[in-house]
Amino acid sequence: MAAKTIGEKLAVLSDAAKYDASCASSGTKRRQSAKGTGIGSTEGSGICHAYAPDGRCISLLKILLTNFCVFDCAYCVNRSSSNVERARFTVEEVVRLTLSFYRRNYIEGLFLSSGIIRSPDHTMEEILRVARSLRETHDFRGYIHLKAIPGADQRLIEEAGRHADRLSVNIELPVDASVERLAPEKKPAVIRRTMGALRARIEEAKDRGADPKERTFVPAGQSTQMIVGADAATDATILTKSATLYGSYGLKRVYYSAFSPIPDTTSALPATKPPLMREHRLYQADWLMRFYGFELSEIAAGLPDGMLPLDMDPKLAWALAHRDLFPVDVNRADRERLLRVPGLGVKSVDRICRARRHTRLRLADLARVCRSLEPVRPFVVAEDWHPGGLLDRSALGPTLAKPARPVQLSLF
Ligand code: SF4
Repeated sequence: MAAKTIGEKLAVLSDAAKYDASCASSGTKRRQSAKGTGIGSTEGSGICHAYAPDGRCISLLKILLTNFCVFDCAYCVNRSSSNVERARFTVEEVVRLTLSFYRRNYIEGLFLSSGIIRSPDHTMEEILRVARSLRETHDFRGYIHLKAIPGADQRLIEEAGRHADRLSVNIELPVDASVERLAPEKKPAVIRRTMGALRARIEEAKDRGADPKERTFVPAGQSTQMIVGADAATDATILTKSATLYGSYGLKRVYYSAFSPIPDTTSALPATKPPLMREHRLYQADWLMRFYGFELSEIAAGLPDGMLPLDMDPKLAWALAHRDLFPVDVNRADRERLLRVPGLGVKSVDRICRARRHTRLRLADLARVCRSLEPVRPFVVAEDWHPGGLLDRSALGPTLAKPARPVQLSLF
């Protein structure tokens, strides 16, 4: 069989990487090459994700080193028993691709993961060689996100952390029993130990007091990914796991990735994928806990079957269940209460707090600071507005909930 060209490998290994949601190039150290030394920069935020084989430019070159894998995780298309086309990059090929894509302005960095080649140590060594070559040989200043392989020698992971902006260790599934059942070679305790060691090292770097943007050890922190819908775990279980992960390991982000059914796998997995909206609602609930002051228990209490409603966002669902706490006076309420108003985001609340130092806010002022007045109106009092009995209307929920996206009907 003829050896694959680099383009053919790229098609296979960028496609294989698309299942990993855990990359986003935010919050890292400032690094740039404007003075004519080095190559690349981490400036220009809010970008990420993947390189499409059809040549469309997307900011991170997101690839696997190889999709050969000695493990056999049932939910993974790259598992050893899967019948997919395989490919493997050399370290030099990944380095060359990253640099040439960067020079052509296709990308701003690299997201590199891999199937397990021989052993966790060997895989981590290969990933590390890519990062070392980019940083030390080519003085690459762009963004690098590497996968830390659980169970690999801690010294290898630590060295990777000195080159990478972000490391991620995937927790895989929300409950240990599911990991043990569907990914028998993966050990939840080892995954947690790897995360714990990373946290300790990241904290140590912080304790040295350096400016977060100047830190040299994983300045953008660690993240993880959880697959949603491959087991019977409810949203409440998933969010509980996330809260534990944020609390115990100081993660920057938990990414939720809707399970995709894959061919020829075990009947223990569902035949259909969960609605994509479920993933979206989990992100919204996760956001509420991290930026809006919601406790996990407050969100979970409103979920009798443990599942977030799909037809409305979790903040609106919470507000409708707690109508007695509304309306909130936008001219008087503290920031924490304003953050609980459906339709008001963190930026809108901050703008309201600034603006009301100088003036009494009217409904028209609110319209200028939030994306849509519709979900806000029933829950607030303003200088010229009181919702009256609007809050008591039983049909308020269906009126405010955004209709589900239209679905293209089958033509046949
Ligand atoms: S370790 Fe498991 S999840 Fe990772 S590539 Fe191998 S089979 Fe897939």
